[in-house]
Amino acid sequence: MSLLERYPNAPGAWLGELPITSRYTAGLAGERFLRAIKDDGKIMGSRCDRCGITYVPARQFCERCLDELDEWLDVGTKGEVYTFTLLFENLDGTAREEPEVVAFIRLGDGGLVHKLDEIHLDDLDIGMLVEAVFKPETERQGSILDIAYFRPTSP
Ligand SMILES: [Zn+2]
Repeated sequence: MSLLERYPNAPGAWLGELPITSRYTAGLAGERFLRAIKDDGKIMGSRCDRCGITYVPARQFCERCLDELDEWLDVGTKGEVYTFTLLFENLDGTAREEPEVVAFIRLGDGGLVHKLDEIHLDDLDIGMLVEAVFKPETERQGSILDIAYFRPTSP
């Protein structure tokens, strides 16, 4: 016998708040990566010459050879749409008037998952060139959302 059969009037959802706090740190490389976005409007990668890989977001260690990566480089603010999806509902399940576009944007040998905006859906395509649009400096908080979105651009 299931719980719902035993307690048919039991609440199906619990509304309220849980008194839980948690902290997540971005780590040494993550903090430096996010500070470069916040303070300088730059997207940084870290390079492993031994493996020939430029990690974006920048990392402290190479995932292949485990070398510590001390070569950081500005990879620019332009990337390529590697893949994308359209969101037709909000988080609460209500329908959106316009779909939101979320893409994996290839930068260096890695990339970022982020929103695309200022885009016509008919133009949306794999491989299209996009550029980061940063929030105004006074509104940045050290988050990946300091990049407001990416938009189509030309080389
Ligand atoms: Zn390596």
